[in-house]
Amino acid sequence: HATGWAAPGAGAMLEIDLGAIAANYRLLNARTGSSICAAVVKADAYGLGAHRVAPVLEQAGANTFFVAHLEEGVRLRPHVAPTTRIFVLHGPMPGTEAEFTRHNLLPVLNSMEQVAGWRAHAGQMDKFLPAALQVDTGMSRFGLSDANVTTLAANPDLLDGIEIRLVMSHLACADTPANPANVMQRDRLRAMAARLPAAPLALSASSGIFLGPDYHFDLVRPGAALYGLAPNEDAPNPLHPTVRLGARIVQRRTISAGDGVGYGLTWRATGPARIATLGIGYADGFLRHGANGGGCAWLGDYRLPILGRISMDSTTIDVSDVPESVLAQATHVDMIGPRRSVDDVARSAGTIGYEVLTALGSRFHRAYL
Ligand code: PLP
Repeated sequence: HATGWAAPGAGAMLEIDLGAIAANYRLLNARTGSSICAAVVKADAYGLGAHRVAPVLEQAGANTFFVAHLEEGVRLRPHVAPTTRIFVLHGPMPGTEAEFTRHNLLPVLNSMEQVAGWRAHAGQMDKFLPAALQVDTGMSRFGLSDANVTTLAANPDLLDGIEIRLVMSHLACADTPANPANVMQRDRLRAMAARLPAAPLALSASSGIFLGPDYHFDLVRPGAALYGLAPNEDAPNPLHPTVRLGARIVQRRTISAGDGVGYGLTWRATGPARIATLGIGYADGFLRHGANGGGCAWLGDYRLPILGRISMDSTTIDVSDVPESVLAQATHVDMIGPRRSVDDVARSAGTIGYEVLTALGSRFHRAYL
């Protein structure tokens, strides 16, 4: 797999395996039994291109999508069937309610203000309007408080005209299964929902699915797992990798003991070394901290340590172990690929796979497989 790129003439290249994304969806859907498996495609499907990813997920069986912003929903709408549901997690900002109905988008109502805005809009339209209600079960980020739920239970007319399609919350610690916050949030969701009009319930994203059936409720909302990220650090990752990131070898040279490499000359050769300069840097979203903590590239089975600091458009690697005959054939090396996952890159950079994926820029040649 060291060669055979979809566009060998290009500089940095991102290959996105749509088949693997569909396979991940099927795996998660099978795991969650009768619960609806929705798909989270916010942030342009975690940087991979929602307009390509969503139709493939739809073909694999997804009929419900989540985005973060109204604008993301408007952009996604033409790429999926009119009957496919798109929920907008941040809900309607004041005055944008009509945009939701115009584009057939479902708001997640997170506050009493958003509930009041949607109720007023339903009144103006003179019909029932569907929405999800989010309740805050402990993350203190989005959703109605316990006191808000008490108010709604005592004044059901505050929900007039609102057809509640989903009552949802979000887990703060699902990637650490033993964390007591998980059970607490699950029980709070049940208790809060019991005081609201009956509706399907949802709590879990990717990691929550792997906490077990007790966390599946009526709908699950995976994002990261669709794109192949590990649901938690301690268990083997059952998901298929979905991206390969290749960087072009732009130049090679041999250096001597004592020579420094890159800004700040933070790496110095202890003996003769053969090095290569790659056409990928932090402006491509290849995080500058990725040079720390054992950052490397791969050429087939050869591990190529990153030397010194990552620049805006380039990265330098050690190719001393690679035979000249192999290097002479190589146009690209893998920054993410069969030997190095998105999560591996994240660990080197001291961050999470989510940030690595969503940071990947638009400078790449992109190929969808
Ligand atoms: N649901 C909500 C409310 C979210 O904010 C997110 C992402 O942050 C998700 C679902 C998807 O989470 P994950 O990518 O961990 O599956």
